[in-house]
Amino acid sequence: MQTVILKEGREKSVLRRHPWIFSGAIREVTGEPGAGETVEVRSADGDFLAHGAYAAASHIPVKIWNFSETEAVDEAFFRKRLASAFALRKTAFHGRLPDAFRLVCAESDGLPGLIADVYGEYAVCQITGAGMELHRAMIGELLLDYVKGVYERSDVDSRARDGLPSRTGHLAGEPLPDVLEFAENGIRFRADWRNGHKTGFYLDQRDNRRLVGECAAGAESVLNCFSYTGGFGLAALKGGAKHVLNVDSSEPALACAGELAALNGFSPSAFATETADVFQFLRSCRDSRRSFDLIVLDPPKFAETMSQRDRAARAYKDINLLAVKLLNPGGQLFTFSCSGAIDDDLFAKIVDSAASDARRPLRIVRWLSQGPDHPVLTSFPEGRYLKGLQLAAPA
Ligand code: SAH
Repeated sequence: MQTVILKEGREKSVLRRHPWIFSGAIREVTGEPGAGETVEVRSADGDFLAHGAYAAASHIPVKIWNFSETEAVDEAFFRKRLASAFALRKTAFHGRLPDAFRLVCAESDGLPGLIADVYGEYAVCQITGAGMELHRAMIGELLLDYVKGVYERSDVDSRARDGLPSRTGHLAGEPLPDVLEFAENGIRFRADWRNGHKTGFYLDQRDNRRLVGECAAGAESVLNCFSYTGGFGLAALKGGAKHVLNVDSSEPALACAGELAALNGFSPSAFATETADVFQFLRSCRDSRRSFDLIVLDPPKFAETMSQRDRAARAYKDINLLAVKLLNPGGQLFTFSCSGAIDDDLFAKIVDSAASDARRPLRIVRWLSQGPDHPVLTSFPEGRYLKGLQLAAPA
């Protein structure tokens, strides 16, 4: 078999079961493996370490499939990994699966390069690596054990790193219905699987949307920044908020938010949308002395890589400082970061620095993260990307 031999001492992370091998750790590649082909990973001493998928162009040329010399990377392997992912979701949700959930979360489910989100009886998947790409037809068929049809939304920039083109289209089983509706915490939503962001919806915030709903009772005014299709805003209304303003730069997302408010029977006078850049919008609120009882900040990933961390930190500080200033006495801020490069400590420091500049002592009420269908392998802390804080302003 084609083999990737590591440099002396570089087997340590593999022995700790970290699923990536960086190009700097590789001494030699034998047998010219093609894109995505399975290779054996061996230590400098020749000991077997793992099987992985090979992508010559990537700065992570090997993503590990398994650590077993005897387990082949074949259909039975993928079927087993999917079954294990499904079993974990059943455990995580106490046997009562929600309508929509993430069935496969890449490395965290031992399936690097695959995201699969289930919406009712259908799934939308993203294939992001050369290894998974080689098995995409098989993966589509195997997913039919769980859903009736699978659509592929492999239109993510990260594919270019593995030398893969962007691709979208039907993958397996029945075609998806035009309107893919599902319920979350008793609210009706729609996943725009063709044109929406990612696979159509941000499933990772399910628990936090429920929490915002629970905390919104009695709030006169809610500002939902980076609202996408209004998820946090709809949860707040359902929880008893009087009025929600959703702000996003995407017009189609806000149009969908308006439709969802009507679909859920909320009065149009209670649910407003505004197409705007959140940075500018928050400044205009500050200048016009507008204020809110509850604010949600759920921005896109500001830092794609570690090298962008400082700039991203400044952007997080900027919006958090502005938001803190707009909070009414006794108000609440739910602030998030989905940048892997910003960890909990740094995020809390950024928020503290915003509170300090605004001269408003804030208390952290809860530390928030992604939902249980986005598990994290202990050997792969990179899998914990979403972090958030629930903060309370003094009354
Ligand atoms: N809170 C949402 C998910 C937010 S995703 C939910 O629960 O579903 C991030 C959103 O930020 C996207 O909808 C994107 O359109 C929007 N966005 C990105 N940059 C923006 C900016 N500068 N101003 C306003 N919206 C922005």
